[in-house]
Amino acid sequence: MSTLLEVRGLTVELPTAAGWVRPVNEVSLRIGAGESLGLVGESGSGKTMLSLALMGLLPLGARVSGEASLATKTSTKKLTVLSEREWRDVRGAEIAMVFQEPMTSLNPVMRIGAQVEEAIRAHQPKLPGNEVKRRAIDALLRAAVPEPEARAEQFPHQLSGGLRQRAMIAMALAAGPRLLIADEPTTALDVTVQKQILDLLDGLRRELQLGLLFITHDLGVVAQVAERVAVMYAGRIIEEGPAREVLARPLHPYTQGLLKASPTLKRGALTPIPGTVPQLTALPPGCAFEPRCHLRLAECTATVPAFRLIDSDHAARCILI
Ligand code: SF4
Repeated sequence: MSTLLEVRGLTVELPTAAGWVRPVNEVSLRIGAGESLGLVGESGSGKTMLSLALMGLLPLGARVSGEASLATKTSTKKLTVLSEREWRDVRGAEIAMVFQEPMTSLNPVMRIGAQVEEAIRAHQPKLPGNEVKRRAIDALLRAAVPEPEARAEQFPHQLSGGLRQRAMIAMALAAGPRLLIADEPTTALDVTVQKQILDLLDGLRRELQLGLLFITHDLGVVAQVAERVAVMYAGRIIEEGPAREVLARPLHPYTQGLLKASPTLKRGALTPIPGTVPQLTALPPGCAFEPRCHLRLAECTATVPAFRLIDSDHAARCILI
């Protein structure tokens, strides 16, 4: 499988009144063409900031170090050094994003079709109007929007939540990106619609050989769409491996805690992880999970645990493994 995205030691620092903080801390990951990686963690773990770094959408004043390379249709581009002008050719055409709540991402006063057409025109401004329209309808059809010609004439508020998310997926894929970042795309949907959107994304990934970075706090969702899983905590990847392996045999106490806190039909009462994700301005020394970990030892506060490979492709960051 050819590598599409390669991230090595990526760090994002933001200025705060209390000094610089690192919402993304030496993150490394890889996504191949047609491969799906689920990025899991609680709110505040750094998932969204990582995706914004990969889209070149970081807040003003952010400092970035490390590497992120994307194999585009024509060459390999180093995302961390692109100028805003260069980003305009990459964003949408090579790497696109679907957000959590389509109602806040879609323009409420523009018809759906016009919004998809705009995404196409941004990268192919010389395309004739009728061809843009045809491609927009095709994109809606590919995203399984029923009666796409009729839906293209409607405004976002006239569509259901599921159809709005399909329209967002159509917009994201309209310019033919090779990598799709989906940031909690089903959180605002009810369970049956959620399953349809997950099936749609999975089908599109296989059909178009898309790389898919699927961000979620829900391990049940990961089990449905991801081949590999990376678990993030306080800005770092603390476990990574094949989805089946990580979900069946989690190595890190945090991943084990997330699984125990996930609802299933078999499991009765849920066991929440005590405490909350630490503030980036007040990270504990050593392992950031230490204050919440029921297995902690005195030495856990000495240094940040190394990322240790257990099997050929399953690794975690804990001194006990
Ligand atoms: S390093 Fe220590 S505190 Fe951190 S997860 Fe492992 S056992 Fe728990």
